[in-house]
Amino acid sequence: MKVVCNGKVLVKDTDYRVIYKDNQDIGTAEVTIHGIGEYIGNITIRFQIYCGHNNMLHTEGKKATCTEAGKAEYWYCSVCEKYFSDEAGTKETTLADTVLPAIGHQLNKTDSKAATCTEAGNTEYWTCNICGKYFSDEAGTNEIRLADTVIPATGHHYGEYQLTKEATALEEGVRTAYCSCGAYVTVAVPALTPSIKLNVSSLRLRVKQKYTVKVTGLAKGDSVVSWSTGNKKIARVSQKGVVTGKARENTIITIRLASGYTKKIRVYVQKGLVKTTALKISNTRLTLKKGRSYTLRTTVAPVTSQEKVTFKSSNSKVVSVNAKGKIYAKKKGKARITVRSGKKRRVCVVTVK
Ligand SMILES: [Zn+2]
Ligand SMILES: [Zn+2]
Ligand SMILES: [Zn+2]
Repeated sequence: MKVVCNGKVLVKDTDYRVIYKDNQDIGTAEVTIHGIGEYIGNITIRFQIYCGHNNMLHTEGKKATCTEAGKAEYWYCSVCEKYFSDEAGTKETTLADTVLPAIGHQLNKTDSKAATCTEAGNTEYWTCNICGKYFSDEAGTNEIRLADTVIPATGHHYGEYQLTKEATALEEGVRTAYCSCGAYVTVAVPALTPSIKLNVSSLRLRVKQKYTVKVTGLAKGDSVVSWSTGNKKIARVSQKGVVTGKARENTIITIRLASGYTKKIRVYVQKGLVKTTALKISNTRLTLKKGRSYTLRTTVAPVTSQEKVTFKSSNSKVVSVNAKGKIYAKKKGKARITVRSGKKRRVCVVTVK
């Protein structure tokens, strides 16, 4: 230290004394020059005592997470007992300032979605962009697994089976059960059993006589595909079922259906007239009021009989009858109506009141 006054360098302890204050530790110190001898007065100079931060302790930083606070890295000088954010000790900080607060979750909402028959749905949930965790609440307090959000597919619920296609003799039918989503399952309905009814089970024809066989009772969807004869020389058959006797003998007429089913009729062809072998009438006794009428129905066998059916009244003043069997009750009394076909005969007794 050099103390100068008016160009003259003063001598320590002769011209002045030096008094130090707080000059042991880091901080503000004072030095006072106290004039003595020829010199009087005091000059006090303040000065700083700095720490060289030569004993820095480093603490690693730690990143803050969504839920946990982190720490910035820092240095601690064990001499001056200060904290710094740099190793050189130029940026002082506090321990509290090194704390990095938890970031908090950054949540994205996924809306709920109902499950369908075939696709799974989900409950609403939130996903954190940072930590990737899943939460059932918007606040991100209730962590869940993604699997917990899954609502399983419901599967189809089919209703009752309903007939959606009727079976025919040719094709199976279909019964269908529907789910509300439009999906469906089907089961087959067996094809109908073929059936056929003919108005005759056998046929007696005279040579050249024709008879039309009538077909009824076919199962739905079925049809006659062909008529054929066992022998064209004995009997012929048209594709409309008209059978014609050709020569004395018997043969078989075959009717074939679309379903594949077949039915056969034996045909007897004879040279002579086809005669009535049986005769039936609808009534053998009849009571009518005067003025009323009634038609007797008759059945002749075979159906191909060539003998005519005739009607005759025993008293046409009481009861008259026409060629078609229609009876008129004309007057009170009784009469017999005789019905004939060839050698067969039936009687109906009519009482008029
Ligand atoms: Zn220090
Ligand atoms: Zn998070
Ligand atoms: Zn469904």
